[in-house]
This record gives sequence, C-alpha cells and structure tokens, in this order.
Amino acid sequence: MPAPQFHLTFGELLGAEPGTPREMQQAMADEPIYTRLGSIFHDLPYYGNMVLMAIRYGLKRPAEESFWGAQLHANRPADFVAHYIASARTFEGPLSRAERLALVGGLISHVALDCTLHPLVNWIARRDSALDGVSESHHHRLTEKYHSMFFHLDRFGEDVIGSLAIRRRTVITKASSYLRRNAESPIVQFATGTMGSFYDRAPKPREWASWVRSFRQFGRMVSGPMARRNSFKLRTPAQREHYFQSSDFDFYDFWAHSLRMGRDLLQLGLDFFDAGQFDDTARQRFIQASRIDRKNLGAPSGEGLPALPAQTTAPDAPSELPAEVRRVA
Ligand SMILES: [Zn+2]
Repeated sequence: MPAPQFHLTFGELLGAEPGTPREMQQAMADEPIYTRLGSIFHDLPYYGNMVLMAIRYGLKRPAEESFWGAQLHANRPADFVAHYIASARTFEGPLSRAERLALVGGLISHVALDCTLHPLVNWIARRDSALDGVSESHHHRLTEKYHSMFFHLDRFGEDVIGSLAIRRRTVITKASSYLRRNAESPIVQFATGTMGSFYDRAPKPREWASWVRSFRQFGRMVSGPMARRNSFKLRTPAQREHYFQSSDFDFYDFWAHSLRMGRDLLQLGLDFFDAGQFDDTARQRFIQASRIDRKNLGAPSGEGLPALPAQTTAPDAPSELPAEVRRVA
C-alpha cells in the first residue's frame, strides 16, 4: 500500500512545477478533484475494506492484495497509460478539456512517482525485512509512510496525516459521500470503461464507486488526533536517518528524478493527447519515449536512478501480485 497522501501531494506539486506545459498547469489547478483522482487512480482498488486494512496494518501482516491494484501496476503498465490518455481524449461523456487533462496529469504523476521512488522503497523494505523477518510488504508500507511524513515536514512544516486537510483531499469525485457509493456518472463510466477496454474485464461501477467511498473514509480515519499523536511520535532523528537520509541514500536524490520524469511525461502526455493519433505505432512511440516501466510499477527496474548498495537477500515475491498476474508480468 503506497502512501496515498504522498501521491495526492505530488500530483498537486507537479501541476505547479516550473517547466511543465502551461495548459497542463492550468487544468490541474482548475480541476483539483480530477487531478487527485488521476493521482490515486492506480491505488484506489486497495481501498476495499478500510476496517480490514487497518487491522492488517496493526498486526504487521502483509499488505492486502487487490486484483485490480495488481492489474493496474503490473499488467503492461506503460501500455495502460497510453490507453488511458487515448480514452481521456476520446471518451464521449460530458467532460471538459480541462477535466480530461487534469485526469491525465494526475495519472502521470502517479506513474512518475512509482517509477522513481519504488526502487528506494523496495531497497529499504528488503533491508528491514531481512533484519526482523516481518514481511517486505509491511515494511514497504511503513517506508512510504515515513517518506511522506518527512517530506511534508520539510516542505510544509507539518504532516498532512492527523490534519483536517486530508479530509478535503481524499474527496476525488465531484459527487461524493462517506456513506453512499456516490460519484458522478460520467467519471464512473470513464474509469470503468477505460479499464474494461484495456483488460478483458472491468470492475462494476458500484465496485469502483465503493473504492471512492472507502478512500474518503480513509481520509476521515487519518485526520484525527490519534493519527496526529502517532505522527508526532514517529518523527525522530533516528527514523529520519533510517528511512529518509542516510549514508546509503538520500531521498531527495530520487525525488529529483520524480520531478524530472513527471515534467517530461506531462509534456509527452499532452502532445500525445493533442495529436489524437492512437494507433499501435503512435502508442508504441509514446511508450518508448515515456520511459515508464513496462513490467511493474511496484518493482520498476530503477534504470537511471541513483545506485544503492548491493543486497544479498532475495526479494520476497512481490506481494501485490497474484499468481496469474506474475505470469503475465
Ligand atoms: Zn502505485
């Protein structure tokens, strides 16, 4: 389970980053809800059952698996991005150009962050799992939580976890509710239709809308004083060195790549969207230029990223991937 608050923040920051196409910036600023939806699109399926998720986390069990989460991350992920952009352009429902671009910009931010930070996250999780025998996926989740926390502290002076701001930011559709599976129908059609036309099946509209609702419940759950107290307890110099900046790595060396890849991809994505040519050749050209990992956003190759010390322990089988997907990937 990646840290969702970090994906939300990265989507926002990338949209305001100098050097990104002006029209993308404008769209992502004008349509913050769809920017956020795009930035969390890949991870939404992990928000199946919030109660279960909290319990597993508390018990340090491996992170929950999700069929759709695994598909989105590890079943031809670069092709899916090309497909999603094509779908955002050609979708016949009533979405404005700015809404479409915000959906694209958000999604691009998710992919750029996964591709550039997961190699570091996986390295830390593997190191810690070898030390204490707890599953790599638990450490994966923990590492991402610390990355997010220290980043938010450095950048904004406070963690978004344990603040009311996270409640607003986990609203990712324009119609939304804590209690009902509520989302405007064009966006439900876009999301499930885009998945259905790429994979051989699609989540039901009700299922997709239930992820949106759970995500909002998650926002409420981590906005309270308990989460805040916990966040204060975690921010020690020792943890900072363990997870964020040490003699082995510096988070910000990877972060620089996140921004660079995100910027490049926003331009490339906008050009691809505007060209309106979505045949195989055009898609392959986009994928080639994008440098998005073609196999697994959860365990990308890390090509071109800062080197990390060699590890002797073999990695766990990537926990997010059910057997059938592992074969595909
Ligand atoms: Zn992801």
